[in-house]
Amino acid sequence: MPFGQIRHQNPVIVQLAQSIGRTPSALSMKMGNFARLDPAHQRRNVGGLSHGGKLDRQVWDEFHANWETLALESQLALQRLDAGVNGDQELEAPVLPGDKPSEITRQVKVRLVQRFFRDSVLSSYDYACTICELRLRKMLNASHIIPWSVDAARRADPRNGLSLCAFHDRAFDRGLITLDEHLRVTVSEQARIEDPPKLHHVGLLEIENRPIRLPERFHPDAEALAYHRENIFLDAG
Ligand SMILES: [Zn+2]
Repeated sequence: MPFGQIRHQNPVIVQLAQSIGRTPSALSMKMGNFARLDPAHQRRNVGGLSHGGKLDRQVWDEFHANWETLALESQLALQRLDAGVNGDQELEAPVLPGDKPSEITRQVKVRLVQRFFRDSVLSSYDYACTICELRLRKMLNASHIIPWSVDAARRADPRNGLSLCAFHDRAFDRGLITLDEHLRVTVSEQARIEDPPKLHHVGLLEIENRPIRLPERFHPDAEALAYHRENIFLDAG
């Protein structure tokens, strides 16, 4: 089914459409146009509607060129929308005693970018761990493939993210597991011990070669995964 046609069933879309004074179908059509421009969708021949405009292309290209700035702008726009609906004019700021204004601004920016990344990644994977399909939201992390401390330019890019449960997030972050070129799990030799307890066996050893559950959009980036295999995975080189 084309991407745009099912979206109006989604209560978030209905709410967003209401808050910007558009119908859910108009908003769905717009999202369908964006979907058409996503290279991952193009590869899978999932087309959006055929009349996407120049402006859509411009917005899409701009997002892909600079995720962090656009992540920030989209979160601020959402907050303004929300403020308009609720009559609340101020952005919520985590002010700590002694913080200078520049530090407060920095903290707000970091938090908004983090929230954008988390929301984009987790919703793409339909709020499930991509490895074990655990669906408890409180147990899920939007994990960076290339750590955010290594590549600031990619810290907001959802293609540099995976939806992982706390257990697999830690294993991925510490290099005990990685993904191969075909998006199947590779388990490090360092995770293999004699007579492992049940959670270790089921959670780490049995997932070897298992394909991940693919996201609806923002497929994990091949270059980022190559970086993870070469620099973070413990059996590298
Ligand atoms: Zn998991």
